Amino acid sequence: MFANHYEDVSALGLGCQRLEAFAIISQMPPPAASRTLLLDRFERPLRDLRISVTDRCNFRCVYCMPKEVFGKDFQFLDRKALLTFEELERLARIFRGIGIEKIRLTGGEPLVRRNLEALIGKLAAIEGLDLTLTTNGSLLALKAARLREAGLRRVTVSLDSLDDTVFRAMNDVDFPVERVLAGIDAAAAAGLSPIKVNMVVKRGVNEDSIVPMARFFRERGHIVRFIEYMDVGHSNGWRMDEVVSAAEIVRRIDRELPLEPLQANYRGEVAQRWRYRDGSGEIGIIASVTQAFCRDCTRARLSAEGQIYTCLFATAGHDLRALLRGGAADEAIGESITAVWRQRSDRYSEIRGEHTVRLPKVEMSYIGG
Ligand code: SAM
Ligand code: SF4
Ligand code: SF4
Repeated sequence: MFANHYEDVSALGLGCQRLEAFAIISQMPPPAASRTLLLDRFERPLRDLRISVTDRCNFRCVYCMPKEVFGKDFQFLDRKALLTFEELERLARIFRGIGIEKIRLTGGEPLVRRNLEALIGKLAAIEGLDLTLTTNGSLLALKAARLREAGLRRVTVSLDSLDDTVFRAMNDVDFPVERVLAGIDAAAAAGLSPIKVNMVVKRGVNEDSIVPMARFFRERGHIVRFIEYMDVGHSNGWRMDEVVSAAEIVRRIDRELPLEPLQANYRGEVAQRWRYRDGSGEIGIIASVTQAFCRDCTRARLSAEGQIYTCLFATAGHDLRALLRGGAADEAIGESITAVWRQRSDRYSEIRGEHTVRLPKVEMSYIGG
């Protein structure tokens, strides 16, 4: 029933030329799979990979890892279950060979994984790959310079409010806002650029922080991306009336700091771009609830234990670790990923409804945000 959902797939502009370009820019000898069109069932190419390097986190954000679920008895993955840095590098090269252009390291909190710089070094050495990282910023003051030295060029820091009381309540571990701000400053001083700041907006919790966040980071030249609160996982008790829509976020900012829309940097860009009319910078809005963008979704996600998922809201993944540890050759692993992608028909945000909210989805801290 979904197969015909996108009648005008040609409008995606993802013709053969683009896919051939994937093979050309790859620095690996392209496996057989990359010479054919790697499109899913809605003709979306595989372009981005998000790698969760750990399912653990030192925060308990109320919308992601609520304490009542992720308490002291929660069973996180065993260390031996995690893909090693060598395994991650190997997979990253295989993905690169079949067309991936960008990797985002995430989690859980990626900076709690010991010696993450070593992984950054390995991935930064892969030709033509755009590498970035999303972090809660708590360890950034300590690690920014080392991450930069290892080859990281840019970073996204999550921060939900400048109001210390609101922020401490949202991270739910009483973490002070000034330490995240110190992390952002350290990242800027280390030369990580651009710095993007992710703010999840939850009705009744932090919507009054929208304008102060916009104003503060505009002055510092960092791009804030306002994110609609999503029904990821099944533990955050999501309700539609707690979502502050993209339209309302824009309205609130525009009233104080006039905005105008900008063109996307590239087709499939997750954030809608807006700039301040006075030329003082831009913001992004990630409207995954009220304006779903599944049509252009080119992202796959790899869990810390090597399961690949083709949607943030997936209920099941595909095991790549078994292939890695079972002695499969790179070609075979590449073919397996290709087969998974070709079967893909995910468009969860477009079909979201009462019935989907209750599905047993994988948690965001596991699958990687
Ligand atoms: N721990 C890191 C961090 O917080 O940046 C990386 C992982 S976190 C899961 C990645 C992103 O997902 C963060 O920007 C976070 O705010 C966002 N996120 C988590 N739960 C969310 C939800 N329910 N709705 C929208 N965004 C969410
Ligand atoms: Fe941790 Fe990030 Fe989830 Fe917050 S959003 S609990 S920092 S993984
Ligand atoms: Fe992509 Fe799934 Fe999100 Fe749609 S719901 S944009 S398919 S991750």
